[in-house]
Amino acid sequence: MDLRAMMIGAHPDDPEASAGGTALKYLDAGWTVMFVSLTNGDAGHQTMARAELAERRRREADQVARIAGLEYVVFDEHDGELQPTLDVRRRLIGVIRAFAPDIVFSHPLVDYHPDHRYTSQIVMDTAYMLGVPAANTVVPAIRKRPVYAWYASGRMPRVDAFTVAVDTTDVWDRKIDLLDAHESQMYEWLPFDAGDLDQVPATPEARKEWLSARWRVRAGAAATAYRDRLIAVYGRQRADQVATAEVFTASPVSLQLTEANYRDYFPFL
Ligand SMILES: [Zn+2]
Repeated sequence: MDLRAMMIGAHPDDPEASAGGTALKYLDAGWTVMFVSLTNGDAGHQTMARAELAERRRREADQVARIAGLEYVVFDEHDGELQPTLDVRRRLIGVIRAFAPDIVFSHPLVDYHPDHRYTSQIVMDTAYMLGVPAANTVVPAIRKRPVYAWYASGRMPRVDAFTVAVDTTDVWDRKIDLLDAHESQMYEWLPFDAGDLDQVPATPEARKEWLSARWRVRAGAAATAYRDRLIAVYGRQRADQVATAEVFTASPVSLQLTEANYRDYFPFL
């Protein structure tokens, strides 16, 4: 059976950051995976001009697509200026219909970045409209509705919705390979934004190790915050050993992710 997962983010690197390990597990299980970024990422740098940065980030996304074996769609909206317009919604409906995913992931409605919040809004606004022919007259409406899930993390308050926690231990190094491809972000913009640009090691090997340690903290916080959900999936003995996790909560759309169906949508659990 042809099964498909789509990870949508506001910026090139968001799907990798929130669901890169889970994407690799889908690919290993024979699923087809698509990453989508609703902006071109052209504001994510302290010195580069927008046009030049957009091109660089397109190349970084292409590298992820090659390494992982997935398709990476990048919309040409400006970073930091995304709006939940009908035009963007219509285009995204077309992309989702054409790909026909079984599950769609995206940012939660409450998140730190305005582009993330509007992405969540836009993605949620597609859910019902996928089946409404008039919502996009170029790509035909689909009858098979996907379930939608939101990225969760240890940094944000817990949402009171059904939650799936995925142990990323066995795919951790490959997830870091995906993040490592986003050189402009991982080794330039994000450390600049965090105020520790001077901590980034000089050699490719050393900086990738540094990156892994940095992201291990974040993925560790998710594992800690959702330990009860790891126990529900893996049992206490294994769950207690899990050091890195990715976490997803059910989005309140027509076909919901639930206790009864989640193993169909996460076949590697
Ligand atoms: Zn982002």
